[in-house]
Amino acid sequence: MNFIPVNEPLLNGNEKKYLNECIDSGWISSDGHFVKKFEKDFSAHCGQKYGIAVANGSVAIDVAVRALKEKYNWHDDDEVIAPTFTIISSVQSIIYNRLKPVFIECDPITWNIDTSKIESFITPKTRAIMVVHIYGLPTDMQPVFDLAKKYDLKIIEDAAQAHGQTYRDMKCGAMGCVSTFSFYANKHVTTGEGGMILTSDEEIFEKCNYLKNLCFLPDNRFVHNDLGWNFRMSNIQAAVGVAQLERFGEFIKIKKRMGKKYQELLSDIPARLPAAKTDYAENHYWVFGIVLNDDVKFNAKTAMKKLFEKGVGTRPFFYPMHRQPIFEKMNLSDNVSRPVSERLYERGFYLPSGLALTDDQIEIVSKTVREIF
Ligand SMILES: *Cc1c(COP(=O)(O)O)cnc(C)c1O
Repeated sequence: MNFIPVNEPLLNGNEKKYLNECIDSGWISSDGHFVKKFEKDFSAHCGQKYGIAVANGSVAIDVAVRALKEKYNWHDDDEVIAPTFTIISSVQSIIYNRLKPVFIECDPITWNIDTSKIESFITPKTRAIMVVHIYGLPTDMQPVFDLAKKYDLKIIEDAAQAHGQTYRDMKCGAMGCVSTFSFYANKHVTTGEGGMILTSDEEIFEKCNYLKNLCFLPDNRFVHNDLGWNFRMSNIQAAVGVAQLERFGEFIKIKKRMGKKYQELLSDIPARLPAAKTDYAENHYWVFGIVLNDDVKFNAKTAMKKLFEKGVGTRPFFYPMHRQPIFEKMNLSDNVSRPVSERLYERGFYLPSGLALTDDQIEIVSKTVREIF
């Protein structure tokens, strides 16, 4: 039996060629020219002015939030609104920066933050709204723009899953004061591990570069006014990124085709499939998630086990942030239930969705999914 993994990247463009250039030239650290090129190409691609390459998508958010906090003189314990249905990276960056996350329920159709639920959580201490575009559809941004304007809040955009996606005619990754990306192996563009911060604000740009590079001073390198991190991306990673970016249009087409094929083959299973579109975007199917109907007798965990035994890899949906044991320990969870995201965790998981997935594999996966019902 050939196991079908949940993700396999496509690395058959110029990746090897550019990697050889790094080795042959000796430029393997962050000082090589691919890093600058990747920053320039990627930010241009997203229609944003500045790009700051970093070690991964999680630290991209840490740096971005800190840069905002410092620029706008936010205080410790000021609040940042965030979706509860997301990855820990989004939220821990708020906590590492001694700010307080406020968890908002998600929308049952798009799985993104339910923008109608944000306003009642805004307090005099609220400083920002963090949006995270989940699994292939962007957040409904207009209500977020309106609230940000009304209450003078900054927008932080975690666009790690939404490279190339648009909200109406605006590009994901260009809608926040800071926007962040990940280039982990399952993202639309990969560098193995890697991340990027985008901004149009020169001060934020400089701050991020400073913070990610140990707060070295340009003319007095080993004298420090602040503590930062070494979160630099290497030339080796950026070389892969530059090659990946050359094929980006093709990658998005592959993902859309994959999503369409799954939609056709799974249209009558007792589960909710991703929305193919909303009135503001078409689904890019970063991953193809399904949510079991209530009348299915088993939950996502059992379904994933059954599929694994039949040779199909899957991943669970996010465990909501308001239920995380660590946040309960830290007294960051209120006792309010958020049933939509809790149900998504219980009933949802995603199918193999990588760029190297073949049509034959999609058919095998779909057939296997049907069998478990
Ligand atoms: C992948 C991902 C991250 C984290 O990126 P890493 O590179 O794995 O650290 C952050 N946010 C979202 C939405 C992601 O999908």
